[in-house]
Amino acid sequence: MTLSFDPNTVDLPKGHFIGGRTISASGPTSGGLTLHRPSDGEAFADCPIASADLVDQAVETAHKALKDSGWASQRPRERTKVLHRWADLIEQEAPTIARFEALCSTRPVGQLIQGDIAITAEQIRFFAEFADKEGGDVAPTSDGELGMILTEPHGVVGAITPWNFPLNMAGWKLGPALAAGNAVVLKPSEMTPYSTLYVAELAVRAGLPAGLVNIVLGDGPTTGQAITSHPGIDKVSFTGSTRAGSDIMETIARSGIKPVTLELGGKSPQVVFADANLEKAADAIAASILSNAGQACVAGSRVVVEASIAEALTAALVTRMERVKPGFTWDEATQYSPIISETQINRMESILAASRAQGADCVIGGGRMDHPGYFHAPTLLTGVDHTNPAVVEEIFGPILTLQTFTEEEEAFAIADHPVYGLAAGVFTRDLSRAMRATRRLQAGTVWVNRYSRSRDHILPTGGFKRSGIGKDLGREAYEANLRRKTVLITL
Ligand code: NAD
Repeated sequence: MTLSFDPNTVDLPKGHFIGGRTISASGPTSGGLTLHRPSDGEAFADCPIASADLVDQAVETAHKALKDSGWASQRPRERTKVLHRWADLIEQEAPTIARFEALCSTRPVGQLIQGDIAITAEQIRFFAEFADKEGGDVAPTSDGELGMILTEPHGVVGAITPWNFPLNMAGWKLGPALAAGNAVVLKPSEMTPYSTLYVAELAVRAGLPAGLVNIVLGDGPTTGQAITSHPGIDKVSFTGSTRAGSDIMETIARSGIKPVTLELGGKSPQVVFADANLEKAADAIAASILSNAGQACVAGSRVVVEASIAEALTAALVTRMERVKPGFTWDEATQYSPIISETQINRMESILAASRAQGADCVIGGGRMDHPGYFHAPTLLTGVDHTNPAVVEEIFGPILTLQTFTEEEEAFAIADHPVYGLAAGVFTRDLSRAMRATRRLQAGTVWVNRYSRSRDHILPTGGFKRSGIGKDLGREAYEANLRRKTVLITL
């Protein structure tokens, strides 16, 4: 069976999802946003904007569902079972989810089936298994006392997700929050809401009590702000830009203190030493900047290479970049993604122009591709220093800069970004140097002789510096959805 589909025949979910049912967009919403398909630029739908009143309704529904369902107080294995059934349903419904996602986002349908959807289902199972295995602790005290550290869910988690991997990002938030016994009010990106709406519906079909997952559609300033400032939201979990992350911290500080996890932007380096396996390094670097057309938080967008192999690495990267072919996200054969929007591709072009004006040489690419929609050619820039806009800014596109070094310390100094510290890569055959690099690189994740996550969901992800606070994935993400209570009893 082919996965390719006609984008004009997809019947999209309509409205918000609150209390286990669809709330029509004509209810208490304000305005609306016109959505365009990234693959061909066609306008295809409007995304409603939930007002503060509708967010209020979602938060109230979540609290009531928590209370009525006993989700947090029942035997934890019951939560595990429901989440496993949900993951199974996500796999069964993969073709439908893939159509909703491929239509509006940058994710090609084939990659969704093989990657995003399969991974999301598995991550939900991974978090489900924590529910009856991770608990509190008994503290060492004197015999006359009993000291315990109990864990309990926060209550209602407010989650906000970006457009670059819409389903995965929703899974990263919903899986651990629900497994830990919370309810969730989630706002997906206004550009890519459909897969999230549909998997929330599947959760209820899998037996999750209605009202524990509520999806409100809307933008950042209205709906997002209504979530982060809401007194009934007990914890905020956000993934998106550093700019929005700082706005959210400010809102939380002004509207009442609550715990917050922030997974933010990056400008990650890939350091290549002369002793590295050059072909394998080029494969990893090219894959990281070409995957989703560089629209990944961890995209390794800055190559820092030992001068003696710079020419050879440049040639190897160009060969890989030349092979790329644009294609509609609804075509099974497509491997290379469009850019999410006209605004985003314009922003990339203006950073590129500023970079060239400051002396950058464009070895390959440098502009849009000949295809409808918003496709940008893979681009490699040399002749840049640490002040060049293409080196400083998170571009979030298929644009790679290349800088050279001659000494190890110089490599680490160039790799260090003043603002971001999300991920870093190092390529070398020298184990001692690799270990020095892992200590010196200022990043929440360091990959050695690779540049990608594995399907080991136990490995957390999160940034240093202004790339964020806290972690997604791993035990850390589960624990971040719990609060700790100290109990001391005189016996
Ligand atoms: P964005 O910050 O513009 O939007 C992300 C989400 O936040 C959207 O749902 C948006 O509506 C909402 N939002 C925006 N402003 C808000 C505000 N003031 N209050 C509340 N909500 C608000 O980001 P984007 O363009 O959707 O995504 C790209 C960014 O996300 C990049 O910077 C990328 O690095 C980052 N990202 C980080 C990770 C990570 O794990 N660190 C993962 C994916 C994406």
